[in-house]
Amino acid sequence: MVALNDVLDKDNMILAQFIVVYCDSLHRSREKALWDEGDQGESNLGGMAPTLCPECFELLSYSVRRRALCPQDPKPSCKNCEIHCYVGEHRARIREVMRFSGRRLILRGRLDLIFHYLF
Ligand code: SF4
Ligand SMILES: [Zn+2]
Repeated sequence: MVALNDVLDKDNMILAQFIVVYCDSLHRSREKALWDEGDQGESNLGGMAPTLCPECFELLSYSVRRRALCPQDPKPSCKNCEIHCYVGEHRARIREVMRFSGRRLILRGRLDLIFHYLF
């Protein structure tokens, strides 16, 4: 049986890859910081350690926290969630990231990631 943490880790890792594509493409000149799971409490990217600008770092951190606190059981994909717990600008920002990076990943043939498209 697949453990909940494994599902969340995978969900987070895919989300992180979308945010990395976005940040690498649009925020190239910004100063970046390495994701440190030790600083993120319960957050877990399954060992992945992306380098992101402060804005994208904050968006990933927020998204990972939302997933960790998800009230849905079993958790649907966020795309299909009726509650949608993201508030304010975070929801618009994550949708923009998924839209932008989704197109890029299709061009790169990463349909495996698109299959798990979250928003
Ligand atoms: S959007 Fe829905 S499925 Fe995603 S973390 Fe929030 S409540 Fe859970
Ligand atoms: Zn960025």
